[in-house]
Amino acid sequence: MCELLVGLPAVSVLGVVSRQNEPLRVHVERVESVAGCPACGVVAHVKDRRLVELVDLPSFGRPTRLIWHKRRYRCPEPSCPHGSWTEQDPLIAPRRLRLSDRAGRWITEQVGRCGRSVAEVAKELGCDWHTVNDALLAYGEALVDDDPTRFGVVEALGLDEVLFVREGEYRRQCFSTQIVDVGVGQLLDVVPGRSGAAPTAWLTAQGEEWLSHVSYATLDLSGPYRSVFNKTVPKATQVADPFHVVKLANLKLDECRRRVQNELFGHRGRKHDPLYRARLLLTKADERLSDDGREKLMGLLNAGDPHGEVFATWRAKELVRGLYDHDDAKLALSFVQRLGNDLQDPDLPEEARSLGRTLLRWQHQIAAWHEAHVSNGPTEATNNLIKRVKRVAFGFRSFRNYRIRALLYAGKPNWSLLATITPR
Ligand SMILES: [Zn+2]
Repeated sequence: MCELLVGLPAVSVLGVVSRQNEPLRVHVERVESVAGCPACGVVAHVKDRRLVELVDLPSFGRPTRLIWHKRRYRCPEPSCPHGSWTEQDPLIAPRRLRLSDRAGRWITEQVGRCGRSVAEVAKELGCDWHTVNDALLAYGEALVDDDPTRFGVVEALGLDEVLFVREGEYRRQCFSTQIVDVGVGQLLDVVPGRSGAAPTAWLTAQGEEWLSHVSYATLDLSGPYRSVFNKTVPKATQVADPFHVVKLANLKLDECRRRVQNELFGHRGRKHDPLYRARLLLTKADERLSDDGREKLMGLLNAGDPHGEVFATWRAKELVRGLYDHDDAKLALSFVQRLGNDLQDPDLPEEARSLGRTLLRWQHQIAAWHEAHVSNGPTEATNNLIKRVKRVAFGFRSFRNYRIRALLYAGKPNWSLLATITPR
């Protein structure tokens, strides 16, 4: 009955120890079979036993430990150099890890697929954080990196920078680059830094044949990623991600609002300053403003923006958003060019002119969106998944931890392989 409950193949239960406020301890040994010396094949002698405590799945609502009475063998042949060794059984526990094999696979699913935190799962098992995290790396990396079919050919490839931690005393920002199949919304990999070096190396490693399938390359408005694509997929059409184009317009609007605020009042925005009160209405999409909201916005601008500078930049932002209202590929380029040139007007505030210069510099990539029809949806869906991973973990200190958590959650691993992979 005990063995049925424990449910491990070829294991006999020696006893169960239950002490108050401690995990349930189940003592087991492997069913004896004759072991031969790995070097000479002579039948080995059992020298002694070593007790190894392994974290196992909870049983009947209690954290549980498996106490494996591991046999130590010795080769009886005096001339054999092999000496002594300890029995292994990957069905019970992987080498080096302090938990049972089934606990390792369960952890990978709980954290990787369900998005639970390592701390929460460790608490449920009644063990420490590192035991769970080490298992997650061993099984997770096997699932993600040892499966050559996790992703196939990619038609629309995207690069995006992601902040994964603020490090040290000065909260220095550490960035990573995510490589995404934007067609289906699958995170392919995460590489450190936001320069071109790591993504170039990753893409080059995929080989010429794989790269030749990439027809569209989406990017934020960043120079390094543009040169990555120029180098690795020169024939692909580069597409500026609409989300980042609109984000830039909002950023310029914000800069303008803060500058005008400062020039007019000589201090940063406070609760009752009209421009400060307008800050959320300004970044909201025009069509999402109610009539009252728009009236309030115009009133606040009248009070806080005497030269109409914030208003002009707000208009520019709305025009940039207007780029994506239609899907006429032919009109798109002339629309971007006209907008970019109009914004060069010397009467406009410097923030609007700077926005115009960026639009002109990236005009082909911006207009290409209309032709490519690479939807923004999958990219944002991937971003949201990764944000969730970061929130659950309260940020990451280790890039390796971050990468595996992001890939398990947003990289669409083949979960049906989890039962059969060999942990690393
Ligand atoms: Zn031997």
